[in-house]
Amino acid sequence: MQIQNIRQRLRALAARPVHEDRILRAWLQARPLDQRTKRQSEHYYPVSLREGLPALQADLDALARIRSLHPGSDGSARLLVELSDGQTVESVLLPRGGVCVSTQVGCAVGCQFCMTGQSGLLRQISSAEIVAQVVLARSQRQVDKVVFMGMGEPSHNLDNVLAAIELLASHGAIGHKNLVFSTVGDPRAFERLPQGSVKPALAVSLHTTDASLRERLLPRAPRISPAELVEQAEAYARATGYPIQYQWTLLEGVNDGDEEIERLVPLLQGKLAMMNFIPFNSVEGSGFQRPSEERAWEMTQALRRHGIIACLRDSAGQDVDGGCGQLRARALGQQPDQALPMAMPQRANAASSLTRASTQRAPSGVTSFFQNGA
Ligand code: SF4
Repeated sequence: MQIQNIRQRLRALAARPVHEDRILRAWLQARPLDQRTKRQSEHYYPVSLREGLPALQADLDALARIRSLHPGSDGSARLLVELSDGQTVESVLLPRGGVCVSTQVGCAVGCQFCMTGQSGLLRQISSAEIVAQVVLARSQRQVDKVVFMGMGEPSHNLDNVLAAIELLASHGAIGHKNLVFSTVGDPRAFERLPQGSVKPALAVSLHTTDASLRERLLPRAPRISPAELVEQAEAYARATGYPIQYQWTLLEGVNDGDEEIERLVPLLQGKLAMMNFIPFNSVEGSGFQRPSEERAWEMTQALRRHGIIACLRDSAGQDVDGGCGQLRARALGQQPDQALPMAMPQRANAASSLTRASTQRAPSGVTSFFQNGA
């Protein structure tokens, strides 16, 4: 179901625009669709609409349900969310009023360190299902920030993500800068985001300054050099006034060397940007390793010494089954290695040059950045 289908259904039930707005607002606040103010009589809505609302409510409730909830010690909670066709995705409730939502079931980018990427793309998530994850989060706690950093690459489902963003801004009382679109650097995102009536903040998954390493770590991300990526992101930052939030999953011995800092400094100096280093969440069976705290801190300080805003972040609820895709894999009875898909191309050169298998992603760690109100 798309947002447009909900609107059409309301109109077919004789809802006037004012009714439609009111009902959509009720849905986005996780309130009953037929909720009225004290001053509104029971005849406020036309009979056909009153009679049709229970069925619509049931269909909206079925868009996203909590299969399991996993509270973290940091105040976050990971949700395994079941969609109406039984597929599952993950959302993360962040400690200070944020929620991280998924935009696809699986993901085609295939990042080497990401469990979600290993499944390949299973299906797109509809605009209504994206919004339903926010509604579900609001049924649990207050939400005033939405980051599109769960499972999936938002720019691969751009129409649905942008429709969800528009509705969250217009009827969901979420400020534009509190809607955070993330991308690995898809040109479609850079083209469409500036054209929208709602301009979200932008997070860019950079991960390395080495173009060839990036091609191996993010095998199906657009072939755009880190310098070009930063240039395009900077143009959006200047147009909106919102700093770009660069994400960098720190992998020991892969992208935590001094040479990365040497290249990062000229790349980010003077930019409307901030860097978030997120040490990889090591899990048993993972080939990648988490760097030491000292090393991660050194890298953060090195950027700060050059006047670049840099933060060291940790995953929201990292004590709860690590990164994005882990809960889903566990629910499917997959271990990290078992989760490797048939569709995952054998990139011998990537695997051998990295000399590691991949199992886990950072984006859920990425989300922890936003819980700090940045
Ligand atoms: S890290 Fe993000 S873009 Fe990369 S495979 Fe995972 S979900 Fe897709």
